[in-house]
Amino acid sequence: MCQYVITSMRTNVQFGMMKHGLEILTESSIDHIEKTPEGLKLTLSGKSEGTLIVDALLCATGRLPNLENLALENAGVEIDKCAIAVTLDSRTSQPHIFAVGDCSNRINSTPIAIAEGRAFADTEFGHNPRAISHENVPSAVFSQPEAGTVGLNEVQARAKFPDSIKCYSAQFRPMFHALTGADEKTFVKLIVETNTDRVLGVHMVGKDAGEIIQGMAIAVNMGATKKDFDATIGIHPSTAEEFVTLR
Ligand SMILES: Cc1cc2nc3c(=O)[nH]c(=O)nc-3n(C[C@H](O)[C@H](O)[C@H](O)COP(=O)(O)OP(=O)(O)OC[C@H]3O[C@@H](n4cnc5c(N)ncnc54)[C@H](O)[C@@H]3O)c2cc1C
Repeated sequence: MCQYVITSMRTNVQFGMMKHGLEILTESSIDHIEKTPEGLKLTLSGKSEGTLIVDALLCATGRLPNLENLALENAGVEIDKCAIAVTLDSRTSQPHIFAVGDCSNRINSTPIAIAEGRAFADTEFGHNPRAISHENVPSAVFSQPEAGTVGLNEVQARAKFPDSIKCYSAQFRPMFHALTGADEKTFVKLIVETNTDRVLGVHMVGKDAGEIIQGMAIAVNMGATKKDFDATIGIHPSTAEEFVTLR
């Protein structure tokens, strides 16, 4: 039997959600929302034209820095694409004014805001000038199934190294669910640059993806190669052992 591995993270998340009973309507817009005794009545246009009654509506279309009322123009601080423009060491266009965290719209997360703040404090007050790297920052989406990722994705890697990218991936039923009997799949993927053998990206969809990718991020940041991954002994039975046995 031929078994196809879906190698895109988003499709793995989407299929996993659909297995849990979620209906996903793509290429559709909500034109109108009306409160009715049955619930919220949505009028849709596009691929899923029609109406839909729902219990709740969550709008998750991203966010922008809230710079209103800061009067940055009075201080001569430059704004670029709705965010405070900063150098790598968080300096604004006014050399004595710094900006860290979401207001500079680099990578908007709590650990990045803290790291940028610490680097600023070390530089300005600790006699230890330094800037943090915004590369290989791990992240996770705590959806069901969960997704975790660090480093370049396949599209980014192929754009950077068009002739020397090799991807390794696997999709399998994790041991945990062999016991529960649930039809749950885990997906793992490594992106490798073949000239250097360096692992440029590690990606996963499935149980504990965030926890597992946090550890993988150390290896990617240290410049681990596929050979290093292969030389690492797995923990059996675990999901993470798949990363060191990919062929
Ligand atoms: C719903 C949601 C879920 C999130 N989940 C996660 C997550 O799971 N993991 C993760 O890493 N990140 C998450 N984030 C992102 C994370 O919260 C932010 O990246 C992080 O808080 C940025 O820190 P910050 O200090 O830059 O900004 P903030 O934490 O927003 O702090 C800015 C502060 O400045 C204050 N302020 C604003 N304007 C003024 C003013 N004019 N004068 C004085 N004070 C002012 C605000 O009241 C606020 O207290 C989430 C964000 C949201 C909105």
